[in-house]
Amino acid sequence: MIELVALDADDTLWHNEPLFRTTQEQFRDLLSRYVEPGLVEERLNETERRNLEHFGYGVKGFVLSMIETGLDLTDGRIEGADVRTIIEWGRDMLRSPVELLDGAREAVEELAASFPLILLTKGDLFHQESKLARSGLGQYFVGVEIVSEKDAELYRSVMRRYRVAPERFVMVGNSLRSDILPVLEAGAHAVHVPYAVTWVHEQVPPEALQDAHYHEILELKDLAALLRRLSASGPRTSASGNEASDADRPATSS
Ligand SMILES: [Mg+2]
Repeated sequence: MIELVALDADDTLWHNEPLFRTTQEQFRDLLSRYVEPGLVEERLNETERRNLEHFGYGVKGFVLSMIETGLDLTDGRIEGADVRTIIEWGRDMLRSPVELLDGAREAVEELAASFPLILLTKGDLFHQESKLARSGLGQYFVGVEIVSEKDAELYRSVMRRYRVAPERFVMVGNSLRSDILPVLEAGAHAVHVPYAVTWVHEQVPPEALQDAHYHEILELKDLAALLRRLSASGPRTSASGNEASDADRPATSS
């Protein structure tokens, strides 16, 4: 029985990563007036990684990391007008329209008819709330959780708050690192819906996914059928062989 379904937002319901990729390319072009462009991407990634614990996820942290990388790579010679350009890119990103993934609206509508849904996303509170409002999907969620980090403890606390046992909780998202691994660690179901572009900080080794609670679907529209199957199979017992026949699950190590 599934009692609560949590959906990630960025690159699960609406497009996000391509916007960062495009801006990163503009940034590389801007810095090519000062430095060898080949250096830029790697240095920006390093700066972002270092800054995550201070600035968190989202556009504002990304803008600060671009400015810092620009200062570092040019030994402080980057011009004020270029810093202003970077800040403008950030503003453009925050204002850019919310583009739902194909079929996302229909999938969410169908799911909401059968399961209580919550939105569970990282990022900047103000920006994510604004994106949800503009997405037109707000009405389908019984709760919205915008969090600074998705780790096993966060998932446990969400399940406690919503009074749902791990085997009755499902997290759905595109990010293996945030939406899948910590959920499996917390003993709940995790459904991976891969997105076309993966953020460099998100890649994980395949053996980490060898878990009976791991599921993968190609598109969000396949989720309702999977959840109905999981619901029908009931809570797993040691004698149950149901899980072994799940066609959507890659082979386990057994
Ligand atoms: Mg995501």
